[in-house]
Amino acid sequence: MAVKDVLHYVPRRLLDESRDFFYQRGLEGCEGTALWIGRPAGSEVLLTRLFIPEQVCIKTAYGIGVDLTERAHYTLTDTLEPGERFYARIHSHPREAFHSKRDDANEIITHKGALSIVVPNFAVDPIDLTQCAIYRLEHGRGWLRLNIGDVAKVFEVVP
Ligand SMILES: [Zn+2]
Repeated sequence: MAVKDVLHYVPRRLLDESRDFFYQRGLEGCEGTALWIGRPAGSEVLLTRLFIPEQVCIKTAYGIGVDLTERAHYTLTDTLEPGERFYARIHSHPREAFHSKRDDANEIITHKGALSIVVPNFAVDPIDLTQCAIYRLEHGRGWLRLNIGDVAKVFEVVP
């Protein structure tokens, strides 16, 4: 069964903080990765804060990538306060935004309905979710890309 659309409110500040981090990483030629934490608000979700895990920038002849350190993997949930959870992961790409095979295989968050946002061009511009590639995890089907209409049902930017 398809995942039902759940609206996630995204404070503008969360976009700005995410962009600042990705932009700084991009200046070093590195992708960055982060998580968005939030809380349920009735049948919707209020995203509240950015979490930047300890990470390593990978550069090879085939391209670049980013991974959490082993310690970050093991301690990830320690960062959550009662009532909080991870709702989305967000990472940057040097150019085009899309989910690579490596991104599909990434196991930072794997709950049904988890969201994954890929920000293009090392976030040289402020983050505009309509310019990002956004995927949602459907168990048995994998990470499915949301079209613009779906994105509007899933994210609403708020002051
Ligand atoms: Zn990627």
